Amino acid sequence: MGGGKMAGILPVDTRPWPERRDEALANQTMRTTISLTTRRLQAGQLKVFSDYPEAEEARQRAILDKRAAIKDMDHLLEQFSQAVHEHGGHVHLARTAPDAVKLVRAIAEDSKVRRVVKTKSMVTEEIELNRGLIEDGIEVLETDLGEYIIQRAGEKPSHILAPAAHKNREEVLRLFERDASQSGIEPPPDDDAKTLTQYARRRLRQEFLRADMGITGGNFLVAETGSVVLITNEGNADLVTTLPRVLVSVVGVEKIIADWQALQNIIQQPALNGVGQRLSSYTTIVSGPTGGDAAEGPQKWHVVLLDNGRTGLRGTEYEDVLSCIRCGACLNVCPVFRQVGGNAYGSVYSGPIGVVETPLLTEGTILAEMPMMACTMCHACVDACPMDIDLPAHILSLREENVEKHAGSFSTRQTYRWWARWWATPTGYQRSLRMARAGQRFYMRDGMLRTAPGLAKGWFQSRNMPPVAKETFHEWWKRTHEEGGDRHE
Ligand code: SF4
Repeated sequence: MGGGKMAGILPVDTRPWPERRDEALANQTMRTTISLTTRRLQAGQLKVFSDYPEAEEARQRAILDKRAAIKDMDHLLEQFSQAVHEHGGHVHLARTAPDAVKLVRAIAEDSKVRRVVKTKSMVTEEIELNRGLIEDGIEVLETDLGEYIIQRAGEKPSHILAPAAHKNREEVLRLFERDASQSGIEPPPDDDAKTLTQYARRRLRQEFLRADMGITGGNFLVAETGSVVLITNEGNADLVTTLPRVLVSVVGVEKIIADWQALQNIIQQPALNGVGQRLSSYTTIVSGPTGGDAAEGPQKWHVVLLDNGRTGLRGTEYEDVLSCIRCGACLNVCPVFRQVGGNAYGSVYSGPIGVVETPLLTEGTILAEMPMMACTMCHACVDACPMDIDLPAHILSLREENVEKHAGSFSTRQTYRWWARWWATPTGYQRSLRMARAGQRFYMRDGMLRTAPGLAKGWFQSRNMPPVAKETFHEWWKRTHEEGGDRHE
C-alpha cells in the first residue's frame, strides 16, 4: 500500500446525538426487538464456548495470526493481488469510498450491467454503493434476508450481523405484503418466520437468474491463493457468486490473512461469537472467474480493495481495531446499544466498535463526540470481543484527544483546573456536595436532578442523576463514629 495516509469518508447522520438517541428511545418496538435479539445472541456465544472449550485455543491462534497479518499487510496484499491475477481476476485499490464507487460503476458500465444482486456487506454500506449504482439506472437487490427487509423499508442496518434486528415479524409481514403487490408474487399468508422466509426465497430466486452482476463483501482474503472467503447462514452468497456473468468483491484491506492455516484458525470465530454456532452454515470461496479449472462461475471477476482510512491506523495505538471480524459480540453486550439500537449511532458502524472506528477512519472529522456520549465504561465489550480489541482503552484515548481539541478556551481550562483542585481535597469535595444539596431543589423533576447551572448544564443534556442524599456517607460516618454517636445505627 504505497502513497500517503488519507482520511476515510463515511456516510453520517448529522443530527446531534441527543436527537438521534431520543428518537431511538421513543421507538418501543425497536427497543424490544433489539433487546431480545442482543440477549439471545449473547446467550448463544456464552453457551457455545462452554459446550466447546477447544474453541478457545483456536481463538488465541486467530488473534496472533490476524495481528501478524496486519503488520505484514503490504506484502500479503501484493501476494493476494498476484494470485488473483494469475487466476484471471482483476484487483483494484480504492483509497477512499468515492474511489471505490467510481471503480464499481465503471466496471458495471463496461459490462453493460442492468441488474445487480448483492450479499450482505458492511463495506458496501460504508461506501454507499447502492446509491451510486441506482443513480446510473441499475437495479440493485439485496439478497440477505435481513438486508432485503431493510431495503424494502428504506432503512439502514441496525446491527453489524443482523441488519433487521430492530424489526418484528408484524412489521416484516407488512413490508412483504407491499412488496408482493408490486412483484406479483403471492404474499406470505401470516407472520410466521418460516412463511416470511419462504416468500423472500420465492421472490429472490427469480432475481438471481436475471442479474448481470453479483456484488459481495468478504470476510477474509487469503493471500496464499488469492481467495475471497464469504460466510453466510443463508447460502445466498453461493448464488450471487456463481449465477451472474460479472462478479465484484468489495473488501476492506484489513481482511487479509496469510494462508489456509490462518483461515482454519479464524473461520469459526464470527459464528461462535456472533450467533453462538460452531460454524456458519455456508462457506463460499472465490478464487477466480470461470474457465481453466473452474467449471462454473462468473466470466469476469474484479476485487476492489478498500482503504478508506484503514491503513492510517497501522503503527498507532489503535492498530488492533483492524483485527475486527465484524462478529457483533461487542454490540450484543453493550448497555447503550441494547437501549438505542444501531441506527442511533449515526454511522454504519455502531455499538462499541462503531464508536471507536468511525472517528478513527475519518481522523475525527465525523462523530468524534460519540466516545464521550455513547459509552458507560462498563468494559463489557472487551470481555466479549474474540479478537481482544481493547475498546474501552481506545474510547478513553479518543475522549482525551477530544478534550484536548475542544476544551481549548482559556476559561474552560481554568474552570476544569479549579474543579480538579477543589475535588482533590476531602474538604473541597464535601463542601461542594453541601452546596449542591442546598441548591438542588431548583433543578429537580420527578425525584431526579435533570439540569444544573453553568458548565454542568451540558452534562445534563444527555443524562440525569439522583439528588445528593439528605445525609452523605461521610456525614453519617462522622455523626456515628467520630462524634460519639450510636455505632449500630
Ligand atoms: S470489535 Fe470485537 S466484538 Fe466487536 S465486532 Fe469487532 S471482533 Fe466482534
